[in-house]
Amino acid sequence: MNNQKMLIAGRWTEAASGESIEVENPGRKTVVATIPRAQSEDVNNAVKAAGSAFDQWRKVSARDRGKMLLEIAVKLEAVTEQMAETIATETGNAIRTQARPEAAASADIFRFFGGLGGELKGEEIPLNNNMLSYSRREPIGVVGAIIPWNAPVLLAALKIAPALCAGNTMVLKAAEDAPLGVLLLAKVCDEVLPAGVLNVLTGLGEECGAAIAEHPEIRKLSFTGSTQVGKSIMRAASDRIAPVSLELGGKSPSIVFPDANEDWVVDGIVSAMRFTRQSQSCTAGSRLFLHENIFDEFLEKLAAKTASLKMGDPLDEATDMGAIINKKQFTKVCGYIEDGLALPDAKLVTGGMPDTEGPLSEGYFSHPTIFAEASNEWRLAREEIFGPVLVAIRWKDEAEVIRMANDSHYGLAAFVWSRDIGQALRTAHEVEAGWVQVNQGIGQIPGQSYGGVKQSGVGREYSLESMLESFTQKKSVTVNLNIPAPD
Ligand code: ADP
Repeated sequence: MNNQKMLIAGRWTEAASGESIEVENPGRKTVVATIPRAQSEDVNNAVKAAGSAFDQWRKVSARDRGKMLLEIAVKLEAVTEQMAETIATETGNAIRTQARPEAAASADIFRFFGGLGGELKGEEIPLNNNMLSYSRREPIGVVGAIIPWNAPVLLAALKIAPALCAGNTMVLKAAEDAPLGVLLLAKVCDEVLPAGVLNVLTGLGEECGAAIAEHPEIRKLSFTGSTQVGKSIMRAASDRIAPVSLELGGKSPSIVFPDANEDWVVDGIVSAMRFTRQSQSCTAGSRLFLHENIFDEFLEKLAAKTASLKMGDPLDEATDMGAIINKKQFTKVCGYIEDGLALPDAKLVTGGMPDTEGPLSEGYFSHPTIFAEASNEWRLAREEIFGPVLVAIRWKDEAEVIRMANDSHYGLAAFVWSRDIGQALRTAHEVEAGWVQVNQGIGQIPGQSYGGVKQSGVGREYSLESMLESFTQKKSVTVNLNIPAPD
């Protein structure tokens, strides 16, 4: 058995309790490893280590911290294949379409932030001639980071790289369902960083995650996960007025205008819905608003396209679409499909309940499923399913579709499809979302701030601005340049 350890103070350790948790390959329903089950004692040890390392780390020049991140990027690139296999095994994400790109993108995140060390600049404010007023960007201290399982290594990189570049130290908790890639990332970081700068724990949300959220010496919390848990993180932070960054859920609209009834848009919808990640993505365009003039024809093409996706073993290079992360999530997705099948007005266009026999019954595989004639009021159209279930809603009037798109407590991403750029941009500006894509449905790119509005979160990631605003605090220094001459 592959018994993994976690990283505290530069040492690879078991949980203080000696307890462990099993990690499963969801494509095969087999246990592939065990990880330590960290609890509050382990969190205390990790926070202590991060606190001791902070004094030295903050004094390393920003450019030198950046150089270490660049070294990590190079080392990560050298283990891309091992990382890709690890991610595919534990997440169920297909190696070709998802896991390998995630491994490469994670190295890229370290390279991007490694180059930003020199940008941690303050400002000089011209108040008057007798005074020098300037500001400094200082690190906050020990950052507590909690990440989910859907893109585990990428999301870990997105917390670690900017936080450390800015001079903070970190205690990061990996998701219990997908900790192995994050532990490999931690191993690579550990080869480069001083002990205690990065501590990586594995454990359950209510035990290890909650202990991080509540720890009085953690000065900043950065969380990616569900809106429900995000609220509990914010509540815990409010007790000690700790700043939080929250990247939460979504129920993102994809608005297709009648002039966009074309094959490239069909491909774009498949990509925006993140079907090849089993739609386990917060940015999934899971509410498809199709204009009534093209409704049936477009759906026919979309159904043919999704049916052509090859679902199967995540480690097989031929696979387009892998498995759902675990039994709990699989059961939840099935519940939504059952719900749709039971609705008298809903029309099942493609997909449906998972196979109960044959190779696809050996893992948590769910077919891409589309329900048409959906109402924006349905549970299927309001709740984040985090599985490959798309609802298609008919619309005829621009104002009406914008109203429906915005009728959600989420506001993460949105997609607009039209050859009429004026119309598309008008819509993009009206939609309540942190990120709107026009005529494409790609993933995030370093450099562009990403994050949500409404209950999809607070704060931004992926950019210089995100590093400055999420991981530094600004100090003003005001100096009297006109003190009296000595007596
Ligand atoms: P998902 O439903 O995608 O698993 P969660 O929000 O439940 O999303 O989980 C995201 C991360 O938050 C995971 O690392 C999980 O262990 C952690 N987590 C879950 N519950 C809590 C909690 N009560 N406090 C802190 N962290 C939690």
